[in-house]
Amino acid sequence: MRGVRKLIFTDIDGTLLDENYSWKRAENTLSRLRTKKIPVIFCSAKTRAEQKVLRKEMNIEDPYIVEDGSAVVVPMECPLYEIINENLNFLKKYQVKIKWDKEILIKLGVDYKEILNFLEYINKNKKFNLKFYGNMSIDEVAKVTGLSKKMAKLAMQREFSETVVSWNDEALRVIGEKFTALLGGKFVHVYGKRAGKDRSVEILTGLYTALYGEKPVTFGIGNSYTDIPMLRVVDFPAIVKNPDGWIDAKIGLYRAKGIATDGWIEFVEGFVL
Ligand SMILES: [Mg+2]
Repeated sequence: MRGVRKLIFTDIDGTLLDENYSWKRAENTLSRLRTKKIPVIFCSAKTRAEQKVLRKEMNIEDPYIVEDGSAVVVPMECPLYEIINENLNFLKKYQVKIKWDKEILIKLGVDYKEILNFLEYINKNKKFNLKFYGNMSIDEVAKVTGLSKKMAKLAMQREFSETVVSWNDEALRVIGEKFTALLGGKFVHVYGKRAGKDRSVEILTGLYTALYGEKPVTFGIGNSYTDIPMLRVVDFPAIVKNPDGWIDAKIGLYRAKGIATDGWIEFVEGFVL
C-alpha cells in the first residue's frame, strides 16, 4: 500500500496505553507514523481534557474523538481545520452542532448537564442509588479507576457523557430510554443517542477524503466491546489482547498477539507502516 494515504483510529486505555497507563514502549512507532504523516486519531471514552494531556505528551496534533463519539475535535494545527467550512453540507447529514474556537468542535451528542440532571432526577425519584462521576469525589474516582488524582480530575471534566460506576438493571432500562447506556470495560457509559464512535469515524474519514481528494485507507484498533462500532467502519480492524484474552468480536479482524501497547505496536508496525 505504498503511496496510499492512511488513517489510524485508536482506542487509548488497554490498547495504546498499558495497564500502568503508559505508552512509552510505543514512542518509536509513534515517531515513525509522524514522519510518514499518518494521522493517529484517538477514539475513546476519555474527555477532551484527558486526551489533551496525552496528545501533548505524545506530540500528536491530529483530530480526536472524545467521550465515546460524542464529539469530534479538530485542532487549529491540523490541516482539516481549514476545510471544515467547505464541507458543511457533508456534516449536515450527521445533524451535528459545530463550535468554532482554537479547536473546532463537531458535536454529535448532548450536553453533560442534560445527562447529569436526568441521573440526579431518577436517583431522587426512583431511589436508584446510582453512583456516577457527578456525585463522587476526586478521591473516589481515583480509587475506582486506578487513575492518579490528577488524571481523575481530568476524567471528571465531562462535556457530553457520564460514567456510571454502580447501577442496577432497572436503572439501565430507564436511562436507555433517553440516552445510550453501554457497558464498557468496567463501567456504564451514558451518552446521547446520536453520538457514536462509528459516526465519528465516518465523519473524519469523509473530511480526510475531501482533504486528500481520495479516500484514505483506514485502520482501527481497540480492545473492548465498546470499540466494535469503530472497528466495523474501518477498512482494517484489529484488537489487541487483554490480560484475560481477546474479546469475542464476532467480526473479521486481526487479533494481535501482544497485550495492549505490545499488540498495538505489532499491528501498526506489521500492517500500517
Ligand atoms: Mg480500551
